[in-house]
Amino acid sequence: MLEIIKEKVASNQRLSRDDVRWAYENASLPEISSLASITKKRFHPEDSATYLIMGIINYTNICVAKCDYCAFYRLPHQEGTYLLTFNQICDRIDQFLEIGGQLVSFNGGFHPKLKIQDYATLFQQIREKYGNSMEFYGMTVAEFMFSCKLSKLSYEEGAKILREQGSKWVTGGGAEILDDAFRMRHSPGKFKVDDYYDAQRAILDAKIGSTATMVIGFDETLEERLNHLEKLRDFQDSTPRKLPSFLLWTYKPYNTELGGKEIHATEYLRWLGICRIFLDNFKTIRTSVLTQNEKGLEGLHYGANDFDLPTEDEVTEKAGATINKNFEEILEQAQKIGVTPIKRAPLRVQ
Ligand code: SF4
Repeated sequence: MLEIIKEKVASNQRLSRDDVRWAYENASLPEISSLASITKKRFHPEDSATYLIMGIINYTNICVAKCDYCAFYRLPHQEGTYLLTFNQICDRIDQFLEIGGQLVSFNGGFHPKLKIQDYATLFQQIREKYGNSMEFYGMTVAEFMFSCKLSKLSYEEGAKILREQGSKWVTGGGAEILDDAFRMRHSPGKFKVDDYYDAQRAILDAKIGSTATMVIGFDETLEERLNHLEKLRDFQDSTPRKLPSFLLWTYKPYNTELGGKEIHATEYLRWLGICRIFLDNFKTIRTSVLTQNEKGLEGLHYGANDFDLPTEDEVTEKAGATINKNFEEILEQAQKIGVTPIKRAPLRVQ
């Protein structure tokens, strides 16, 4: 079976779900690395990778979704809630720019009072103040979905409002495992998978950029992981405007209701390699320094070609992530494993 898979990868044939299931369960780590590297080389050199400096600014921790894997949220009536003002957000952006930051990702929760127009106005004000000196992801697809419902708008209408007021990007964040059984176990109030893709499609159709993400290491089954990848690949095939990148990261279990243990880095690398060989319609596969630290760099030998140097993210830090802000040290580590890191600019949506 390995020879058949190798032959398919070498000749650029699409792998089936059964192929990658077999590879995940039977191939050695070096074999997966080798397969992923062959696929990666179709798009990128093996000995270099791109990166940028990214900060996740959490503008509110108020959320009513109650996902059991989340250590970040507070319900509206609980102590310790916050919602940053425009000036407070700008202060955070200024601090971020001072340390060379390039891309901000705004990430909050399902805030029961923030309508699409509120987001659109905020993002317009940020664009007016900062121009193109930095790029930003306005919100996650999950937040967009909730806010559209709250605003009694279709996804098409919500995306149009954002776009008309200058929004350029959202992220596919909040996807975790895109499988309805998984979602029923852990975040029944968040969304159904088909609904998520309806929102992604509306966003892309409105000429707003978006991304694909996946988080592993909860209690998801292999079939649930495969469902996530299969549906994503089908979606990417089906849409004329493509998602430019896929990011894989890992669940941090500390201080969460779900709890559990972190998966080992080798499991992360194994699955990252599987993602690269299966998602043949994604040019950019991103590895997670935020949740895997220096170990995440090894993902550059498992099909990834790009990474962030993170400056902050309260969501993952509350659940146990530790951020190394010594960027030189991280970049040296990339060199040590034979990869030259090249700083890139954020992508621009036309
Ligand atoms: S993961 Fe996001 S949507 Fe879920 S509870 Fe946390 S902040 Fe809310």
